[in-house]
Amino acid sequence: MAGIRIEHVTKSYGGLSVLKDFSLDIADGEFVVLVGPSGCGKSTMLKILAGLEEASSGKVTIGERDVTDLSPGDRDIAMVFQNYALYPHLTVRKNMGFGLKMRGTEAAEIERRVTEAARILAIDHLLDRRPRALSGGQRQRVALGRAIVREPLAFLMDEPLSNLDAKLRVHTRAEISALHKRLGVTTIYVTHDQTEAMTMADRIVIMKDGEIQQIAHPDLMFREPANLFVAGFIGSPG
Ligand code: ADP
Ligand code: MG
Repeated sequence: MAGIRIEHVTKSYGGLSVLKDFSLDIADGEFVVLVGPSGCGKSTMLKILAGLEEASSGKVTIGERDVTDLSPGDRDIAMVFQNYALYPHLTVRKNMGFGLKMRGTEAAEIERRVTEAARILAIDHLLDRRPRALSGGQRQRVALGRAIVREPLAFLMDEPLSNLDAKLRVHTRAEISALHKRLGVTTIYVTHDQTEAMTMADRIVIMKDGEIQQIAHPDLMFREPANLFVAGFIGSPG
């Protein structure tokens, strides 16, 4: 586990300024929810943390390590996307172990970690199935399992529930929170859903047009929004 420090990160695509001086300190074990309207730069921020996009300027530190110029595979963090593409021809077990296998982890160690993650996520009984035989919620749990087995320093989750129906979303949200309590791994969770933010976050970071509007504990943000945008976003029914 490790804290994450983001210092003065900016990102432009051509003339479009997508992130404007984004700075944030995340404590070891904290669950931070990054929230804001579509297009405000949430996914871009996560991709920069994961090393999938390069910042135009600024610095990212994970634990004690400056990772700004490291490739994704060297950052010890795991990302869970909304489109949790699983390999259709591989079983759940092999889907979960695939990344470890590519890294050269021993078969016995892969089996140990996959078994443990499957137990935590209650998908032990699905390990020999293929993705097409799973429900959307089960697939999302496999995607989480794939991240867990890597035993990363931090999780980055980009709207992981947005492909699930409303009922399953509430259920899976509670599972992710429980998982966080159990594993205690630093997590940055992106959503455009203020209810998810309010129920899951240790702290909410609310963004608009590439800029942070407020960083606060959910209750405080609700009681003392920094501006009208925050008040409107947090106060509107989810
Ligand atoms: P969010 O995840 O908050 O919806 P994004 O980070 O995906 O927002 O996108 C922020 C802005 O950056 C949007 O205006 C989007 O169109 C733009 N953008 C994202 N990726 C690229 C890219 N590869 N090239 C050009 N513009 C991009
Ligand atoms: Mg996005």
